[in-house]
Amino acid sequence: MGSILVVAEIQKGKVREASYELVSFARKVGEATGREVKSLVLGQGVSGLAEELSKKGGGEVFAADDAALANYNAGGHFAAVKAAIDAAAPDLILLSNTPSGWDVAPRVAATLDAAFVSDCFDIEVDGGELVFLRRFFNGKLDARLRPAGLPIVATMQPGATAAFSAASEGKVTPLSITVGEGGTKFIEVKAASAKGVDLTKAEIIISGGRSLGGPEKFEEVIKPLADALGGAMGASRPVVDAGWLPHAHQVGSSGQVVSPKLYVACGISGAIQHLVGMKSSNFIIAINKDPDAPIFEVANLGVVGDLFEVVPKLTEAVKTAKG
Ligand SMILES: Cc1cc2nc3c(=O)[nH]c(=O)nc-3n(C[C@H](O)[C@H](O)[C@H](O)COP(=O)(O)OP(=O)(O)OC[C@H]3O[C@@H](n4cnc5c(N)ncnc54)[C@H](O)[C@@H]3O)c2cc1C
Repeated sequence: MGSILVVAEIQKGKVREASYELVSFARKVGEATGREVKSLVLGQGVSGLAEELSKKGGGEVFAADDAALANYNAGGHFAAVKAAIDAAAPDLILLSNTPSGWDVAPRVAATLDAAFVSDCFDIEVDGGELVFLRRFFNGKLDARLRPAGLPIVATMQPGATAAFSAASEGKVTPLSITVGEGGTKFIEVKAASAKGVDLTKAEIIISGGRSLGGPEKFEEVIKPLADALGGAMGASRPVVDAGWLPHAHQVGSSGQVVSPKLYVACGISGAIQHLVGMKSSNFIIAINKDPDAPIFEVANLGVVGDLFEVVPKLTEAVKTAKG
């Protein structure tokens, strides 16, 4: 049996949270099937990050530390992943469903003649076989995909599971790579102009919907509760379409997929495109004046009422409880 190779991503000098989520998936499959979990960290000056991953994620961590990997380029990334595959002999390779994952994963799958499953939100082990779960038709259906053979390359949705965080024993193995002349050349990184919110990392999200009526209501009603709980503000799509909040705040099939410890949906109906983005949250509170709103079907706690009355009271109660 092969191992499992996790391809970690570095962002702003850190191992991305999504990479620790891959470790969670890998360890789950590893424990159920007896596969060893190995990881790859690639970039320039990343040996320290490989150490960090080995202590937080465990297993053997390959460190491809090379000037050719200083900036993202598909050729260099692919060369590092291929070198790690040669060293780790995996039959399951996990990448995040991110722009670099989209770029590299199909290339890896084609090279290995492997099965490729993208954008998955879970992996199950059924009778020793791997089953990948992903959503279809804008989240209306969950599909269970059972690749016909091994190896398998899969990309996993960021935010679909909790990041692995237990202290572990691991070791780092330097990996040398040869990067040939690629067809692409790095020019520059242009950061998106979103105002710094990364909902996939937030442990508490307070979201508002169209019913808020305007951006000022987010400031007056939603933000105080988010601040009191130390959480971030989320939104349904109409809010973003209306320009009340930037797209980085949108939760759903065309926004962020999140799984915080607490998700509070205020005046959100619970359309399927919103639900796919938040239904795997640990605890969901829904506040809606319509008792038949679909959001209540996924809520752990439902409050039928006017959000403009309920949310400020909740904010006061949180402040009082916190002293
Ligand atoms: C291709 C596609 C992709 C999409 N992607 C997304 C996505 O990523 N994210 C997303 O959210 N949507 C997405 N949508 C849109 C989605 O279908 C819904 O239209 C949207 O989620 C509805 O947003 P809402 O719940 O804020 O508004 P509404 O559906 O209008 O619901 C408002 C809710 O507020 C309640 N309400 C009104 N006043 C109050 C009050 N005072 N107090 C309490 N409750 C009140 C109402 O009872 C109602 O349930 C997508 C749609 C398509 C077609």
